[in-house]
Amino acid sequence: MAGAQQALGHHKHFVAVAILTAGVAITAGLAPGGSVKANREAALETDSAEQAVERILSATAAPSPATPASSNDITPPLDSVSLPAEAPPEELAAAEPPVPPAPDWKEETVRAGDNLSLIFKRAGYDNGDVHQVVYASPQGKALSRIYPGQTVAFLAASDGSLAGVKHVISPLETVTYQRGDDGLYSAERVIRQPEIRESWASGEITSSLFMAGQDMGLSQMKILELANIFGGVIDFVLDPRKGDTIHVVYEEHYLDGEKYRDGDIIAASFTNQGETFTAYRYQDSDGDVSYYNADGVSMRKAFLMAPVDFTRISSNFNMKRLHPIYKTTRPHRGTDYAAPTGTPVFAAGDGRVIKAGYSRPNGNYVFIQHGDRYVTKYLHLHKKHVKQGQRVAQSDVIGTVGSTGAATGPHLHYEFLVDGVHRNPRTIHKELPKAKTLPSSEMAAFQQSIAPAAQQLASLQSGNRLALNQASADAGQR
Ligand SMILES: [Zn+2]
Repeated sequence: MAGAQQALGHHKHFVAVAILTAGVAITAGLAPGGSVKANREAALETDSAEQAVERILSATAAPSPATPASSNDITPPLDSVSLPAEAPPEELAAAEPPVPPAPDWKEETVRAGDNLSLIFKRAGYDNGDVHQVVYASPQGKALSRIYPGQTVAFLAASDGSLAGVKHVISPLETVTYQRGDDGLYSAERVIRQPEIRESWASGEITSSLFMAGQDMGLSQMKILELANIFGGVIDFVLDPRKGDTIHVVYEEHYLDGEKYRDGDIIAASFTNQGETFTAYRYQDSDGDVSYYNADGVSMRKAFLMAPVDFTRISSNFNMKRLHPIYKTTRPHRGTDYAAPTGTPVFAAGDGRVIKAGYSRPNGNYVFIQHGDRYVTKYLHLHKKHVKQGQRVAQSDVIGTVGSTGAATGPHLHYEFLVDGVHRNPRTIHKELPKAKTLPSSEMAAFQQSIAPAAQQLASLQSGNRLALNQASADAGQR
């Protein structure tokens, strides 16, 4: 996983550059009178980012048909240390396919547990070659940072000796090490910038955000991002209702005309039971990126609305949900989230674990203190992932849903205490710590920055209204 993280880190950097340079093509277009529809065009091409990466990687990694079974079999002409495939210019011009013959790179995919020694050996080279490229050459150290799934390719000189090594770090980044006359290798890094296209999707909740997101053609990652963005204002387990609407404007990254990965969510709105929440991505003058509503109030709140991973809760669970339960038969002072055993439970906010233990009624439980005034409690856990005294950040997984203690079935029992008194977290917003608001000095830039996305969202929303009006008009005619 370290590889994926590293690759992501790189991408982020390039994305930042690319946003400044790439033209943004808006692919919006609402079918007149059509029902709420996802951006099918985008959806059809959407596979997960992983799949896309895999596809592109495997395309890169396809062995050239001209690759000899073993480059060591080639009898070397005397003085050919230079790279092959240097066609004379006139031959290039005359060549029927105008593509010059590619050098015969022998490609190896980095496997789990691999090291350079093993990879070089598979390609027919030895530790002496590893040493020469990585340790003897001043720029070679970077080659020792290889991760499963990456490609390392080898170029043989005509005498069979190693002439070059190519490290495909990601579809965006390749480093080529070429042997010079002194036997040392010089490195050349090639960084590609993806083309950024803007895309959008609209959808309506029929069972859960997760199902709606899938219908909209959003990747699992995008759905999780959406949930994170709205996690401070919407409880995605208990709040969504049939008929709630979602609109998302987001970026997609293309390489060679093919979708390569999802980009950032630029703006999104969620209309829940008639109330619309809107979030805009904004990079402030310090360079910090966050999501804000149209008034510049951060979407990130001190507490999550639901401290449980809703994506693991099936639509059946959602449809038959028990509503925030404040039972009267016995003092039941919390909210129950029915969810399958093993569903991750999150810390609702930053804080410190003041208790993590087991008791007959509570089963496995975790209590977290947040600042001076707030305590959250999580009961009936299957597993606890934190210890007493440990600091936790919002959304850290502190355990999993279970049915330990006095529980009839797997569920999270969640309690929220203010100054030691049980409160319903859903109804005490005024008492909760205020979310960060952009300073007034930032507001002009903010308004300017979000204007295009706001317009885009408005058009999606009005398209949605048109569709709904059309539907009711149709219904009226019958
Ligand atoms: Zn309960």
